[in-house]
Amino acid sequence: MIEKRDFYINGAWVAPSQANDFNVIDPSTEDACAVISLGSEADTNAAVAAAKAALPGWMATPVEERIALVEKLVDAYKTRGEDLAQAMSSEMGAPIDMSRTQQVGAGIYHLKNFIRAAKAFEFDKPLGDHAPEDRIIHEAVGVAALITPWNWPMNQITLKVGAAAVAGCTMVLKPSEQSPLNAMIFAEMIDEAGFPPGVFNLVNGDGVGVGSQLSAHPDVDMVSFTGSTRAGTAISKAAADTLKKVHLELGGKGANVVFEDADEKAVKRGVLHMMNNTGQSCNAPSRMLVQRSIYDQAVETAGEVAAKVTVGNAHDEGRHIGPVVNEMQWGKIQGLIQQGIDEGARLVAGGTGRPDGMNKGFYVKPTVFADVNNSMTIAREEIFGPVLAMIPFDTEEEAIAIANDTPYGLTNYVQTQDPARANRMARALRSGMVEMNGKPRSAGSPFGGMKQSGNGREGGSWGIEDFLEVKAVSGWTAE
Ligand code: NAD
Repeated sequence: MIEKRDFYINGAWVAPSQANDFNVIDPSTEDACAVISLGSEADTNAAVAAAKAALPGWMATPVEERIALVEKLVDAYKTRGEDLAQAMSSEMGAPIDMSRTQQVGAGIYHLKNFIRAAKAFEFDKPLGDHAPEDRIIHEAVGVAALITPWNWPMNQITLKVGAAAVAGCTMVLKPSEQSPLNAMIFAEMIDEAGFPPGVFNLVNGDGVGVGSQLSAHPDVDMVSFTGSTRAGTAISKAAADTLKKVHLELGGKGANVVFEDADEKAVKRGVLHMMNNTGQSCNAPSRMLVQRSIYDQAVETAGEVAAKVTVGNAHDEGRHIGPVVNEMQWGKIQGLIQQGIDEGARLVAGGTGRPDGMNKGFYVKPTVFADVNNSMTIAREEIFGPVLAMIPFDTEEEAIAIANDTPYGLTNYVQTQDPARANRMARALRSGMVEMNGKPRSAGSPFGGMKQSGNGREGGSWGIEDFLEVKAVSGWTAE
């Protein structure tokens, strides 16, 4: 079994101040695959102190040099792709082929986008032609605590570390205790790239421990958090006494609005998108709203597509989906599927229990419910499993009302061949992102939500701005 008890603080791997072993469970087998340590307050304080001490030097480092170090990080990343893929498959259950492509690929994609965005970003510029002696300087917020989830671990870590690094922030990363192994490989890559000691620190721990300590710490200037709305609320409260900035990327309950003029692959694409990463994506299109004239056909298609989605061990190659991350999530998903049945939704694929022939591992049947109404629990709560809720609608206005009737506002999806309607929908939907007809957002596009999906924007230049303060200077002399 892998033993990785140390933390990365001030450029070195150090033992925890006190022993507190934690087993990392492989969700494919339910066996422990690694042991790590959960940090205590002394570890949190040591990491924050290292980040604080490194801050003046890192802020004063020319941005070109900071970018060059991120470029070296990309080089290191390229040599560790397989290690990262294996780690993520073991600790959070992403099937190995998907881990190698999507999970690992997301990290390198974000780092490269930050390099490009930082090269074009005006960190220092005049206010305008009308005020030649006024200067606008963007400078680092300071020490950033980065708290990340397990579902797209390298995606989240690079979205925060890449932006913080080019912005000139020093940082303490607390990855999810469910998926710490990829984060520790990432710390090794930071070390290999040659970042100055203290710029990047990693302490493992849980939410009530290291997570809360970082959120309340007086020497932490901002928290960048991705995870559940529950934890986002707790972090905001813990951060309030020190009035630090809190950037939140939280959950979602995205609507995928399928109009009668949608392309013929729209329903299939929507189901497969929902099932990707075993439904554990905050931007999953988990409510499929279908126009009534094509509803029956869509339900039939969705049921057929879901029935063909295979479930298997994350370590096996192939196109199956893996288990969900842990026993708690498995139990929560089972409860929500049962609630869907009890509240009168029509089960057209899947259901409760493990898939046939599987009796170990946190496997869930790819599940589709039809005849859902938007007040049912399965339409309101983020399930975070491979469970799709299908809801019929008649008019565009009704579709907009249903889509927006949720506390969340992360990503909505629209399927229509009518460009004017597509654009109307894009404006009417209350979410940080709207994706049309299966077309992904392009490199450098900001990721983030409205309402209870959060307040931050990650990726590209918007992601860098999240880690910057704006300083306005008068009486500036041209040098
Ligand atoms: P979680 O909120 O339980 O944990 C996320 C991280 O926060 C972990 O590192 C955890 O240890 C820490 N944490 C938990 N409680 C804390 C507290 N009180 N104080 C400080 N830190 C705390 O979420 P999860 O189960 O790991 O991830 C799943 C959730 O994340 C889902 O709700 C999903 O929608 C959301 N998510 C959102 C995005 C996004 O960008 N919007 C991306 C991925 C995941």
